[in-house]
Amino acid sequence: MRIILVIFIIIIYNNCFGQTETKMNYNKLSDFEKYVIIDKGTEAPFSGEYYKHNLKGFFICKHCDSKLFKSEDKFDSGCGWPSFDDEIDGAIKQVLDADGKRTEIVCSNCGGHLGHVFFGESFTQKNKRHCVNSVSLQFIPEEINQEKYMKETAYFAGGCFWGIEYHMKNVPGVLNTQVGYMGGKTKSPNYNEICSGETGHAEAVKVSFNPELVSFEKLCKLFFEIHDPTTINRQGPDIGTQYRSEIFYTNEIQKEISENLIKILKNKGYSVVTRLSEYKYFYIAEDYHQDYYNKSGSLPYCHFYRKKF
Ligand SMILES: [Zn+2]
Repeated sequence: MRIILVIFIIIIYNNCFGQTETKMNYNKLSDFEKYVIIDKGTEAPFSGEYYKHNLKGFFICKHCDSKLFKSEDKFDSGCGWPSFDDEIDGAIKQVLDADGKRTEIVCSNCGGHLGHVFFGESFTQKNKRHCVNSVSLQFIPEEINQEKYMKETAYFAGGCFWGIEYHMKNVPGVLNTQVGYMGGKTKSPNYNEICSGETGHAEAVKVSFNPELVSFEKLCKLFFEIHDPTTINRQGPDIGTQYRSEIFYTNEIQKEISENLIKILKNKGYSVVTRLSEYKYFYIAEDYHQDYYNKSGSLPYCHFYRKKF
């Protein structure tokens, strides 16, 4: 019975978080691209398209189109693969390689294999070398219309920002998340001021996502399903205006979608108290609050997924 329940939960999770659905939207790969990007293979050194490549622009993931590297961070290390000493914020995930020694780098969005990262080699001031397979990348020249690769941003407040970030971060199509403060009056507040409850700010999460891979509606539904939108200024044990439920929309479409979802929830009997406000300013919170649960290895205490739609 317990095994059946676990399988059921996994199916529900995949459906709700769109894992299978969004994967279908990824670009089709050739056999060789699959060998490198999916099966973590390596192209021969000095063979790739971008090993000697100095045009201005940026590099996106061949699999999912997420922006990964800028040409200004590319340098010639002589190793035979494109080398970058920096990445676009939040675009790359580091994992321990299957060899147990090296650090593999994958696309944060789709998990596609890119290569490895090495530190302390003194090639550049940043002292970091992302050694990347050309075949994992697609170059986009600077002069090309970058609109397609722009990301959309959503801002959600629903109690302690650690928990909201934890759930949003792992949604396929989400490129980056940051926790911070918004909706109040105090300029550049710090956490102590927020705790006083007098700044007017809510703990909030900025979610940058690729709208071609995940919709605002899907994120907004998830937001309602990982917190309790029916309690005023409270989530579980956390009480205060900083823990209120609020969506800071960045355009009219986000506003309409949010209003519609609230209507659906109300029709289902939820007395939703979530506020809708126009985005004004987001103050990034202190470093130790960013990606808190992943860094601390712990789990959210009051944000759990409960299906509502
Ligand atoms: Zn990708």
